[in-house]
Amino acid sequence: MSDTIFGKIIRREIPADIVYEDDLALAFKDINPQAPTHILVIPKKPIPRLSDATPEDQSLLGYLLLTVQKVAAEADLTNGYRIVMNNGHDAGQTVDHLHFHILGDRQMKWPPG
Ligand code: AMP
Repeated sequence: MSDTIFGKIIRREIPADIVYEDDLALAFKDINPQAPTHILVIPKKPIPRLSDATPEDQSLLGYLLLTVQKVAAEADLTNGYRIVMNNGHDAGQTVDHLHFHILGDRQMKWPPG
């Protein structure tokens, strides 16, 4: 399993506010929220970033998007929400374990920063 901070959360070595879990995915609240609702959805498989995904990960990536949909519905984000995935240095990725940010409960701006 991954040795990033998210790997430690998966293995319950450090605490997190977990809102959803199944065999393939985990969702927990971001420790430094950028919106009133800010949840991270991660695969349990430690893929560092989207650039590292392979054709073998095709169904997992689709599964993660459906998990985002489910978690957002459970969080009652009926007015919409933004999904963000930072990929690599220039995008500002700080944790090398693929993750979707779900941001909601405020009006988002475009273009993003
Ligand atoms: P990124 O910058 O896209 O790599 O996003 C990493 C996110 O992980 C940031 O929004 C952090 O606030 C969040 N984060 C880092 N450590 C933790 C933690 N222990 N529990 C919850 N969220 C975390």
